[in-house]
Amino acid sequence: MIIDAGMTIAYKCSSCGTFEFVNITLFEISSRRETVFNCRCNSSKLVITKENAHCYKLAIPCIGCGTRHDYVLERKDFVKQDIRIFNCPKTGIQQCFAGNDKEVRKRIDLLEKEFDELINLFGYDSYFSNTQVIYDSLNIIHDIAAKGNLFCGCGNEDIELLLFSDKIYLRCGKCPATKIIYASTNEHFRENLKLNQILLLDEGHELKNVPNE
Ligand SMILES: [Zn+2]
Ligand SMILES: [Zn+2]
Ligand SMILES: [Zn+2]
Repeated sequence: MIIDAGMTIAYKCSSCGTFEFVNITLFEISSRRETVFNCRCNSSKLVITKENAHCYKLAIPCIGCGTRHDYVLERKDFVKQDIRIFNCPKTGIQQCFAGNDKEVRKRIDLLEKEFDELINLFGYDSYFSNTQVIYDSLNIIHDIAAKGNLFCGCGNEDIELLLFSDKIYLRCGKCPATKIIYASTNEHFRENLKLNQILLLDEGHELKNVPNE
C-alpha cells in the first residue's frame, strides 16, 4: 500500500514575523533532495532537505535569535495525528508547527486571535510602524508581568501600558516612574526577548518628553 500523506507546516517568518503556511506531501519532498518555500513577503524561506528515506531536515531562519535552526522531521510524523512544535533553542519562541492541517491552523488561530483584535483596533498598516513587533513585544511584557517580574521601584505592581506607533510606554500608577520598550524593528524584538524583568524607575521623564526615536 502506498500512502501519500500530507502535512501542513507553519513557520514564523524571520523578516515579517507572520506565520507562513506550507502544505507538503511525503511524495513531494521525497522525490527531491531539496524543496524551498518562500514566505509571501519573499524575504525568508523554509528549506526542506531529504537526509535519507526516513528523515527530513527543516532549515528555518529564526526571528528570535537571528540565526538559523535545523529541525528534524521523520516519516512517521506524517501519519501521526498530533503536531510537532519546534522552539528556538536560544529564546524558546515557538518558531514552527508541523502536522495535521486542521490542528496546525487551530494552534496558529489561537496564537493570532489577540493579534487580530489589535489589528481591528488600530488597523494593520495605519498605526504601528511594525504591528507584528509591537504585538510580539506586548506578549513578552505580558509574560513578564504574569511571572510577577514587572514592577516599579516604589514597590507598586499596578503598571499602566500605553501603545505608541513605535514603542510601548509603561507608567507607574502611583509615582512618576516610567519605562519605554521600543518595538518597531526585529532588532527591538530580539532585544525585548532577552528581558527577564522590567523595573520602572523615576528618571524625571514626563510623557510629553518621551523621545521620538
Ligand atoms: Zn515573511
Ligand atoms: Zn532562534
Ligand atoms: Zn512607582
